[in-house]
This record gives sequence, structure tokens and C-alpha cells, in this order.
Amino acid sequence: MRIVLLGAPGSGKGTQAQQLQSDYGWPQISTGDLLRKAVAAGTELGLEAKAVMDAGNLVADDVVLGIIKDRLSNHDAKTGFVLDGFPRNRTQAQDLETVLSDLVKQLDAAVLMDVSFDILMKRLTGRRTCSKTGKLLNVYFSSQEELDECTDAGGELLMRVDDNEATIRNRLQVYDQATAPLIDHYRAGGLLRTVQADGTRAEVYSRLLTVLGVVSQ
Ligand code: ADP
Repeated sequence: MRIVLLGAPGSGKGTQAQQLQSDYGWPQISTGDLLRKAVAAGTELGLEAKAVMDAGNLVADDVVLGIIKDRLSNHDAKTGFVLDGFPRNRTQAQDLETVLSDLVKQLDAAVLMDVSFDILMKRLTGRRTCSKTGKLLNVYFSSQEELDECTDAGGELLMRVDDNEATIRNRLQVYDQATAPLIDHYRAGGLLRTVQADGTRAEVYSRLLTVLGVVSQ
């Protein structure tokens, strides 16, 4: 299937996309991850993107389009993919349509992950990555055992640079202004599905499979 995941920062797009990838083989394509890789590698593109990302603003459309075009033409995206964090505004949605029509492909669904503001703030301010295992954890929602497992193994609980409160507010505002209008765009195209995305990872995943109409693996 070819799926777009829509939703505010912290709505769980990445987590659910990873699960779909591991169960169905549709690669998770996250523009945020691809951009962070470019930043870590210190490429020209990465250097350009870093300040914009640290402030929680959107990287230029043509930069992101280049990344997406490249990634979608990869062999593993032939039979399906899960786009996570793209498109993020109307221009990018139009760009995606052009790229897909050039590849003679169509989207099957755009899924909105719907979460209340309070939960988003907790998920984002509490989010940590274990430096040792790469596991995603949360100081509000993970169990003490899970958190200890990381530190006992000599790992550190790292925060993403853009997970501080000021940047989070800006990212949520950018979402409301630039990305939320895509909900209507996909509704008008008949592709929109909505998932109530408060709740546990497993609950949300099972709702997601239901709206996608696929059987669980
Ligand atoms: P989140 O959705 O939790 O904010 P992401 O990892 O998707 O996190 O994105 C992190 C940052 O990367 C964004 O705040 C933005 O600066 C940049 N970014 C990611 N995807 C895009 C995109 N499609 N267009 C422009 N900028 C993007």
C-alpha cells in the first residue's frame, strides 16, 4: 500500500510507520529522519537544514522534494511505502502528486493520527532516545524498568535538539498553519482516514490496520 501519515509532531507517526514496515514490508520514509541523517553527516544540505530544524520551521520545499524523489525511486518503494512527515504543506502535497504520477502510481490512503494537545506536549517534552540501544522512550509513559534498562547498560537518555518547549510550541504552530489544511485536501480527494491516536501503541496500531482495511499479521 502507498500511505501518507498525517498528524501533529508527537502524534506517533514514526512509531506506527515502523510497525507497518516491520509487519508488511512497506518502507517508512521519514523526511525528518532523512534530514537528521544529512545533518549528522555534515553534508551541505544538512548544514543548510540544521538551523531551520532546530527552530522547528520547515526546510525549503525544493530541498525536501529532492530527498523524496530520490527515496521514492528506490527499489524497495516499488510496491508500497509509508510517508511520515511528508507532505507538510500544500506545495509538497502537489509535488507528491506529480512525483507519483511520473512513476504511474497513486496513493491508497492518507491517515490522520488524531491526538489531543495535552498528550502531544507530554509525548514531545518527555521523549528520549537511548544512546546505547536507539530505543525510543518517554519519561512520562515508559516504565521505570525500561528507563533503567538503558542507563544500567551504560546508555544515556538523549533528547532531540528540537524537543525543547519553545521549539515544540513552534512546531505545533507550524503544523496548524501549514500541515493541518492537508486534512481537507485529502478528504476532498476521498483518501482521508482518521485514527484516534490517544492510547497505547498497540491500540493505535490496531485502529490503524482497521482503517487501512488490512488483516493483522
Ligand atoms: P516532528 O514531526 O516530530 O516535528 P520530524 O522528524 O518529522 O518531527 O521533523 C523534524 C523537522 O524536520 C521539522 O521540524 C522540519 O524542520 C524538518 N522537516 C521534516 N519533514 C519536513 C518536510 N516535509 N518539509 C519541511 N521540513 C521538514
